[in-house]
Amino acid sequence: MRTQVAIVGAGPAGMLLSHLLAAEGVESVVVETRSEEYVAGRIRAGILEQSSVDLLRSAGLADRLDREADPHRGIYLQWPEERHHLDFVDLTGRSVFVYGQTEVQKDLVAARTAAGQEVHYEVSDTAIHDVETERPSVTFTDGSGAAQRLEADVVVGCDGSFGPSRTTVPAALRRAWEKTYPYSWLGILADVAPSTDELIYAWHPDGFAMHSMRSASVSRLYLQVPHDTDVAAWSDDRIWEALAARLGHGQDGWQLTPGPVTDKSVLPMRSFVQQPMRHGRLFLAGDAAHIVPPTGAKGLNLAVADVALLAPALVALLRQDDARLADAYSETALRRVWRCTHFSWWMTTMLHSGDDPFDQQLQLSQLRWVTSSEAGATGLAENYAGLPIGF
Ligand SMILES: Cc1cc2nc3c(=O)[nH]c(=O)nc-3n(C[C@H](O)[C@H](O)[C@H](O)COP(=O)(O)OP(=O)(O)OC[C@H]3O[C@@H](n4cnc5c(N)ncnc54)[C@H](O)[C@@H]3O)c2cc1C
Repeated sequence: MRTQVAIVGAGPAGMLLSHLLAAEGVESVVVETRSEEYVAGRIRAGILEQSSVDLLRSAGLADRLDREADPHRGIYLQWPEERHHLDFVDLTGRSVFVYGQTEVQKDLVAARTAAGQEVHYEVSDTAIHDVETERPSVTFTDGSGAAQRLEADVVVGCDGSFGPSRTTVPAALRRAWEKTYPYSWLGILADVAPSTDELIYAWHPDGFAMHSMRSASVSRLYLQVPHDTDVAAWSDDRIWEALAARLGHGQDGWQLTPGPVTDKSVLPMRSFVQQPMRHGRLFLAGDAAHIVPPTGAKGLNLAVADVALLAPALVALLRQDDARLADAYSETALRRVWRCTHFSWWMTTMLHSGDDPFDQQLQLSQLRWVTSSEAGATGLAENYAGLPIGF
């Protein structure tokens, strides 16, 4: 097989890239280890920043999003006895949208299927070759067991945190930074209307808690738990009791309404960045190059931003033989990656409590500052609602 751009991974980064390239007349083939249904059903991110929504709109991918997404003006930040609202629209003129990654993925798949995009699902043995030449390729075993070779002008690794792309960059030429946090998130999805109009981020001495949502009838809630937590140790009742305590059930008359839990999982928290995001004819985008803890709601948005920078770079390279944007891609993308990596780390370390009473006082002081100073609040709002894609 031959194409212009071989894309490894059919998650949001890979599918959005294939869409943006096709709009400019560049063809691609996508290979994916999982089934189409599995990729579409994975419960992950739920918040889109303004620039992601603007990009999806300009790419003609936002019809359903514009009908169904829930625009939020800001978030609540709280600690015992106090809850404060930060209004991002007032502070920065930008907002965020509640629209699940599952829905983004469905919209992408529908658009690419309608356009006849070639996607090979359920492949195995994916390997990337010859990226230092002008004829790189991807080999894989297809769903029927046949060995395949996909030749291309460029290979893009959109294969998330466990794919083979990032280690295709020679060890001597790549550098990675990693931080594992001493806690995880226990996340639940519940068939119950959210008990809040906007997300609540709660600092509590027992541990962080968060009230998010996916729709008017589905809530998403998280609890800080120790790193090696077994999900079986947390019954539904125990989860709702901990959520009620940490989110302040009863505080100023606010009530948390429990409901049937439909999904329960433990999500480890880590930060990871690998650079460069380009080696020869291999480019990395999304979780293949960087991972953030979900506290700042940045993972999916960073994947969108990478692809928004990479698509025009590849179009210029492959259609006009102009390598300037492609040569600048890694450096340009990494500026935003490191900004979001810092913001995600900052939100995480401000809100997750540990055993050290000194650290707890610093966290509370920081929370009081961002909720009482316009300068502090604006810094948080600007980062949360999202800096421009080319920042
Ligand atoms: C459990 C979980 C919960 C999350 N929750 C949040 C959240 O609440 N908020 C937030 O902002 N972000 C969250 N994230 C992060 C967010 O979902 C990711 O940042 C986003 O999915 C990145 O998109 P991507 O396309 O780069 O990678 P992915 O979505 O991971 O897609 C990569 C694709 O590559 C495929 N692949 C892997 N290896 C191969 C191979 N060898 N050959 C072919 N294909 C391959 C994978 O199957 C996958 O479909 C979460 C992530 C996880 C894992």
